[in-house]
Amino acid sequence: MKTSPKLSRRNFIGLSMAGAGALALGSTVSAMASCIGQPGKRLGIALVGLGGYSIGQLAPALQQTKNCYLAGIVTGTPAKATEWAQKYNIPQKNIYNYQTFDHIANNPDIDIVYVVLPVALHKEYTIRAAKAGKHVICEKPMALNAADCREMIAACKKANRMLSIGYRLHFEPHNMEVMRLGQKQVFRKVTGIDNANGFTYGGDPNAWRLNKALAGGGGLMDMGIYAIQGTRYTLGMEPISVMATQEKTKPELFKDVDETVFWELEFPGGLKTKGKSSYNHDWGYLKAQAERGKFELEPAYGYGGIQGKTSNGPMDFPQINQQAAQMDDFAHCVMTGAHTRVPGEEGLKDMLVIDAIYRSLDTGKWEKIQKA
Ligand code: NAD
Repeated sequence: MKTSPKLSRRNFIGLSMAGAGALALGSTVSAMASCIGQPGKRLGIALVGLGGYSIGQLAPALQQTKNCYLAGIVTGTPAKATEWAQKYNIPQKNIYNYQTFDHIANNPDIDIVYVVLPVALHKEYTIRAAKAGKHVICEKPMALNAADCREMIAACKKANRMLSIGYRLHFEPHNMEVMRLGQKQVFRKVTGIDNANGFTYGGDPNAWRLNKALAGGGGLMDMGIYAIQGTRYTLGMEPISVMATQEKTKPELFKDVDETVFWELEFPGGLKTKGKSSYNHDWGYLKAQAERGKFELEPAYGYGGIQGKTSNGPMDFPQINQQAAQMDDFAHCVMTGAHTRVPGEEGLKDMLVIDAIYRSLDTGKWEKIQKA
C-alpha cells in the first residue's frame, strides 16, 4: 500500500458517474459504495504481460488511479523489464518473469495481480496468483471455455481471494445508462436488441489472436463478447438458448479461428435478440427497441468517444478513463470487502453463451445455454 496523491477532477467525475449509474441500477448498491474510495490508501497492482493493452491502456490508467498504483510487472522480456522500471519507477524487487512469478507470494507491495496475457494463459496465471495470496483481475475473455472459468472461480474462492474480470464498460457512463434504461424498463419492456462489435484485422497473420489454441476463437471471443455482455446488461437477464451462423471471406487469414459470426439469443419469456461479431467488419453498436421508445449507443464499446441517444434525444455523459475507474473500483472492493460488480461469475456467464454459440456453429441447430 502507498499514500494517495490528490484526486484529479477527471478521476473524480469518472468515479462519481460510475457511482451514480450503479445507484440507478439498484441491484448493485454495494458496487456504488465501492466507488467512493478511501483517502490515503493505495493498493499495489502487478501487470502480468506487457503487450498492447498493458502498454497503451492499463499502465497509463494506473497513473490516474487513486486507490491503486502500478507496483510491479511480470514479463518474459528482460528489455521490457528495464524499460518499464525506468519509465514507471518500479523497483527491481517488484519485477518478475514467468518462472519467478510464484515468489510474488512473499511481496507485500503487490496486493492485486492483473492478468493481461493471451486467453489460453488466463487460467494458469489467475490460479497461480490466487495461490500466491493475491487478489486477481483477469482480462476478457476470461478463459478458453466455461469449464476453465469455473476452475478459476473455485481456485480464488479456495484461496479466499477476490476475482474480477476486466469489463471496463460496467464503469462507462453511457453503457451504465443503457443498463438503467433496459433493466428499469424506462421505455417499458425491451422488445428487441441489435448488437454488433468487430474490427478489420490487419495485424500479424501469425499473432496469438488468430491461433485457436492460444485465443480460443476469433472475432467472437475477442469482440463478440462485448455484444453478448451488452445484450445481457441491457436486459439484466440470462439467455437460455442460441442459434448461430458464420461467414468466412478470408479463409487463408482466419484458417484457425472464426471471422464473422451471427447469432440470435433467446431469453426467458420468448424475447429474441440479434448479435454479430467480426474480425473483418468495423462494427460497434447496441440498439434497443422498447415498447414505448428506443435507445442506442454508437460507438458503443471503445475506450472513449462513446455516444448514445434515446427517443428523447442525445445522451449527455462525460467520457472517462474506463480502465482507471475499473481498477479503482476493484481496489476499493478489496480494501472494504464490497462485492465487485464484475466478478468471475460475469466472465463465466459470457463464456457459457460463447460455448453454446460454438456448439451451434457445429450442429447448425439451436443450442441450450448452460446455467452458471
Ligand atoms: P498482446 O499480444 O499485445 O500482448 C500479449 C502479451 O503477452 C505480450 O506482452 C506477450 O509477450 C505476452 N505473452 C506471454 N506469453 C505469451 C505466449 N505464449 N504467446 C503470446 N504472447 C505471450 O495482447 P493484448 O492486446 O495486450 O491482449 C492481452 C489480453 O488483454 C487479452 O486477453 C485481450 O483480450 C485483453 N484485452 C482487453 C482489452 C479491453 O478493452 N478490456 C483490450 C485489449 C486487450
